[in-house]
Amino acid sequence: MVPVRLRGHHFLCVLTYRGYGYTEPFVENMTRLVGEIEAGRPVILCKGPDDICGGFTQHCRTVSDHDCGQPHTREMDQTAVEAINALVPVQSGEPFVMDAAMIAALRSGFADNSIRKACLRCSWSDFCTQIAREEYADVKLFET
Ligand code: SF4
Repeated sequence: MVPVRLRGHHFLCVLTYRGYGYTEPFVENMTRLVGEIEAGRPVILCKGPDDICGGFTQHCRTVSDHDCGQPHTREMDQTAVEAINALVPVQSGEPFVMDAAMIAALRSGFADNSIRKACLRCSWSDFCTQIAREEYADVKLFET
């Protein structure tokens, strides 16, 4: 099975994803991918724009004034990978399945801020903090 390509900071974003995003096409794509991850489709770390970014169309760029290739977004990826690599084998270079136990471990680290340094400059940070406080209710990936 072809793995879902995820950039570093998206290993965090899937933890709090409630079905909100920049635009409708972006949300449709991310919701589908998150569903496939929950169903057991493997993931693999990639550099730069990934399969979630694949839902970000030119129209999305125009209406959101965001671009997935920005250098500071790549820095977020690196920061995220360094933080979460102790919990999940993101730097192994091999595809792996994110099961419920792995997601629970990541969510625990996310809630206690030990893996969230990459979120510091993200405009969604307060929203994701609130979702963690609400114990990840209504999220799309392994809803708790
Ligand atoms: S704060 Fe931003 S980078 Fe962190 S999980 Fe939320 S959306 Fe992703």
